[in-house]
Order: sequence, then structure tokens, then C-alpha cells
Amino acid sequence: MDPQKVNFYDVVLEQLEITAKLLKLDPDIHEMLKVPKRVLTVSVPIRLDNGSVRVFTGYRVQHSDARGPYKGGLRYHPDVTLDEAKALAMLMTWKCACSDIPYGGAKGAVVCNPKEMSINELEHLTRRYTSMISDVIGPYRDVPAPDVATNAQTMAWIMDTYSQMKGYLVPEVVTGKPISVGGSEGRAEATARGVVFCAREMVKKLGRELKGETVAIQGIGNVGGNAALLLAEQGCKVIALSDSKGGAMRKTGIDVVKILQHKEKTQYLTGAPGYEDITNDELLEIDCDILIPAAIENQITNDNASRIKAKIVVEAANGPTTPEATNILEDNKVTIVPDIVANAGGVVVSYLEWVQNLHREHWTAQEVNTKLEEKMVKTFHDVYNFAKKEQTDMRTAASMLAVGRVADALKTLGLWP
Ligand code: NAD
Repeated sequence: MDPQKVNFYDVVLEQLEITAKLLKLDPDIHEMLKVPKRVLTVSVPIRLDNGSVRVFTGYRVQHSDARGPYKGGLRYHPDVTLDEAKALAMLMTWKCACSDIPYGGAKGAVVCNPKEMSINELEHLTRRYTSMISDVIGPYRDVPAPDVATNAQTMAWIMDTYSQMKGYLVPEVVTGKPISVGGSEGRAEATARGVVFCAREMVKKLGRELKGETVAIQGIGNVGGNAALLLAEQGCKVIALSDSKGGAMRKTGIDVVKILQHKEKTQYLTGAPGYEDITNDELLEIDCDILIPAAIENQITNDNASRIKAKIVVEAANGPTTPEATNILEDNKVTIVPDIVANAGGVVVSYLEWVQNLHREHWTAQEVNTKLEEKMVKTFHDVYNFAKKEQTDMRTAASMLAVGRVADALKTLGLWP
């Protein structure tokens, strides 16, 4: 699917519109929630390895801080747009509210192709971008985290740059850091773990268990790769995986550890010996029990929704299904666990990391994973039960719970001056 066909910001605005109607939301509050509170655009110059200077466009979009400091990832992608960052920032507001954690929503993005950049260039880009957004971030202001094509090392560079500017170490300015500089146990695979908890709770609702379920995962990065490993550990049969270049399929089940090693060696999944190459479109339409889109937005659209054969879609990526596609899937009795529920594990453990940093504590992996499981299971059931009560789908229910909470906070705070 070509994600450019659909403007993701229009999609999230449409979802907000639907939710506002259902909640009979105060029009003044709706007006405030439609737009981000702040958009910062920066032109980031860096010297490339070849000695020339190139200027990259970067954004930090802050949607709402009504319930706590802005919180959201940083994305490096050649096609990323301001509208995409605005959409993702709004989704973060809903995600944090839906999981009832005291954060607002934000997103950062830099238009660049990290695959064509050296580590040295990525470090310079990250540090210069950090210095240019440093006035609007901070532990009580806005706390970035990793997203597509950024990782723990990127967060360490942000933390170090911010700390150098302050003159003292500020680990709590970012989450998703390496453990050696204040990162949390369990953060790297937290989003994937949360996806697996949601998949488990959903299949339980259908009277089944994870063991033996067939799974296809689009996108085998941090989230998709770890989800594949964890689901295989739970006895699922992972039958198809993909990355941006295409995927691999084996009906009898993929050896996830081995195929990840193949990708590590060759960069891609295609061409793995013993597997059939498939396209991303084919992966989405494969016959399986659970489909996990874990790549980018707008992958299930009205072009392909009617051909989705999975009975459960667990949205690990942000915004992988358009509203029209959601309707088609619901009509076809496909259950969707929506992104703001399914992929909240990352921000939940980010929150736990921030709390540990603020208290200068370091919890065990077991403590972190137990807290994560409690939070994910509670959120899943809150949303599931609310959907049943309102006789609606889980996406609408999650959105109603989240927007309702943010609206309550805005109303209670009032409008200054
Ligand atoms: P990542 O960069 O580690 O991995 C992304 C994967 O998607 C890669 O395998 C890449 O090859 C693949 N991909 C990229 N473009 C594609 C395309 N057009 N078609 C098919 N595959 C494509 O990113 P990630 O951190 O795993 O994030 C994946 C998704 O999960 C994103 O939507 C992100 O916003 C969301 N998410 C991530 C986290 C987190 O903690 N990392 C938390 C919440 C949500």
C-alpha cells in the first residue's frame, strides 16, 4: 500500500470528529484538541562525512500537555511529513490518556534517510537537532523516546547533548535509553511485550489460547521483531514476516531466531533459504489467525481490507488501518485491537523509566514487566468492556475513553487568562 495516498492527519482528525460526536464533546474543547499546542520546525545543518554541509528539516510537535508533560517518539524517515508528526503527536495524547499515565502527547521527526547515513552523521544530526529543540523539551516539559529508525543510542546522544547544555546529567529528559545511562530493564522489548499481552487477552476472549495460533507480522524492526520472538516463545506459529523490501513465508512456521540472524547478516528477509519470498501486500492478505501490522501507517486501506483473512488484527504500528478499512474489517467480523491500546507498552515502560530516573532508582526486569502486564491487561479490559457497554468497536471505545479523560482535564484546568 502506498501510505502517501491517505493523509494520516486527516485520519486522526476524522477519528476525533467521530469521538467528539459520540461523547457530545464541548465544542470549545473539541476546537482546542483539533490542533497541536506547539509546532516547532528546525533546519538542522550538519557536516557530512564527505566534508559538505547538508541541511535537514526537523520537527517537534506538541499536541497536548493537559494531563502531564508532552511525551512522544522521534522518527527518522525520508518521507516523514509535518502532518504525519502532527497526527502521531495527537495519537500519543490519546494513547497516554487511554493507559491512564500522566503524560500528554508529542512527536519528533527528521526528514532523512538513515540507511544512507553513517553513524557519525546520525550522531551529528541527533545532537544538532537536540540543541535546536532544547528550549521546548525537558523532564517536566517534553520527554522524547525512540520511534521508527531511532534507538537507545539515539536517546543516549539526546541525553548527553541536553545534559552538556545544562551542565549536569539529566537522564530523565528521554526514555528508551541504554541501561548503562539510566534506561529501564525491559524497555527495548516493552512495546512488543504489550502487543503480545493484548493478543493473548483477545484470543482468550474468543475462547482460545495463544499456543498454536498462526501469526503474520508486517515490519520486523524493534516492535515486530521482538513480537515475533515473544509470540514464538508462547507457542504461536509465526508463518510470515516482512521488512520494507518484502518478506518471507513458511506455512509450517518460521524459525524466528534463525531468520532474524539471516536479516542481520544480509539486511533483508527476502532470499532466506527454505522460505518463500512474499511482498508486503501478500503478507497482509495471508490466511492466518492474528495479523500484526508493525511497520508504518495506512497499510490496511479500502483497497485491501476486504481481502484480509486474519480474524484478529493487533495494531502494533501507529495508524496502520484507515477508518474506511476499519469499517470493512468490522463488517467482516475481524476484531481490531487498536494502536493506542496495543502498542502502549513502550510508553508505559517509558513512564516507568522516567519515574525510576526521577527517583534515582533501578528496578528489576521482573518488577518492570509485572507493572507493564498489569497496566496493559487493565487497559485492554477497560476498553473491551467499554466497547461492549457502548455497543461499539474497540477503536471507538479507546478513543472515547482517552478523549474523555483529556477533555475532563482541560475543563478542570480552565482556560487561562
Ligand atoms: P523500526 O524502525 O525498528 O522497524 C520498522 C520496520 O518496518 C522495519 O522492519 C522496516 O523495514 C519496516 N518497514 C518500514 N517501511 C515499511 C513499508 N513501507 N512496508 C513494510 N515494512 C516497512 O520501528 P519500530 O520502532 O519497530 O516501530 C514500528 C511501528 O511501531 C511504528 O509505527 C511505530 O510508530 C510503532 N511504535 C513503536 C514503538 C516503539 O517502542 N518502538 C512504540 C509504539 C509504537
